[in-house]
Amino acid sequence: MTHSKDAWLAPVEYSDEQSTDLIVYCGDGRFGTAIESFAKGRLGLPRCARLVVPGGPVCLAGETPPFYEVKTGAAAQFYFLVDALKIQRVHLIAHDRCAFYIQKLEVPEANLRQRQIEDLKKIASRVRHDRPNLAVDSWVAEVRNDTVAFLETPTQ
Ligand SMILES: [Zn+2]
Repeated sequence: MTHSKDAWLAPVEYSDEQSTDLIVYCGDGRFGTAIESFAKGRLGLPRCARLVVPGGPVCLAGETPPFYEVKTGAAAQFYFLVDALKIQRVHLIAHDRCAFYIQKLEVPEANLRQRQIEDLKKIASRVRHDRPNLAVDSWVAEVRNDTVAFLETPTQ
């Protein structure tokens, strides 16, 4: 890579080819780098599309009780990405210690994993209903020792 006097140049090559995979995850910076690493290393997706919002996949939970009432338009943004980029597979990633769940949804930390797994199942089912041709996988990012472990969770 060369340096230019007027700009900082990213040390990566640009490609116009669009990925057909989308990862959906939370904006919590403690997990962001590990999630990017997971997408590249485990999923083999260095250039996938991304939807990064507080709580991650829970933005797609919609208005079905006991879900948080989503009025932010995040679900609309999600479906825009899916349709515009011709996404074929979605990877939903929830994570440990999520402030959105704990503070906004007031889920006790002790119940967090259970709640996330239930939500991921419901969200996957809803997404499949809305876009039947879309494949959906879900994961939980868990703090383990000094790193982050990614556990696949059932989506049916
Ligand atoms: Zn979070």
